Amino acid sequence: DTRIKKIADTVSAYPDFPKPGIVFRDIFPILANPAVFSDLINVMVERVHASCPTPDVVVGLESRGFLFGTPLALALKVPFVPVRKKGKLPGEVKQVSFTLEYGTDTFEAQAGRIKEGQNVLIVDDLLATGGSMKAACELVTSMGAKVTLCLVCIELADLKGRDKVKHPVDTILQF
Ligand code: IMP
Repeated sequence: DTRIKKIADTVSAYPDFPKPGIVFRDIFPILANPAVFSDLINVMVERVHASCPTPDVVVGLESRGFLFGTPLALALKVPFVPVRKKGKLPGEVKQVSFTLEYGTDTFEAQAGRIKEGQNVLIVDDLLATGGSMKAACELVTSMGAKVTLCLVCIELADLKGRDKVKHPVDTILQF
């Protein structure tokens, strides 16, 4: 698929960012190129149609998951729901806490936005250790919904994040 090659060529790699030893994958050049961005969203739509029932809701993870989740939800004609770090969403929220390399973090979603029995597609920009995606799956599941697919643009395959997630995972690029 020539689209995938173009998307891969558009992602930049920054060695030693944000700290020594890390190769940071930067997805923002995709957003700076409308033709490639449009190809990526089309490929994501095709992956959803190929691998799971049409979702009732698309959930995007703060913050780069919003960038791909909103156009995808619009293309699928279903609601978009953000999952954010603690304290940023107003009103009643549902929470899940998860462990990071140092300390813990908490994800929140607004109560009522995800309903019991719904099929949910979770979107993020990148899968590293899988900790964020696993926590998001727990949050969605705790609201009585079913995670039918976790779709991310970039998978850092060596970190084996998909083994941690324990729900179906699909990724467009693997590094
Ligand atoms: P995980 O929880 O270890 O899988 O980390 C995934 C989260 O960290 C995602 O929300 C990413 O946005 C972010 N992340 C980790 N590494 C990178 C990177 O190289 N580029 C962009 N985002 C990254």
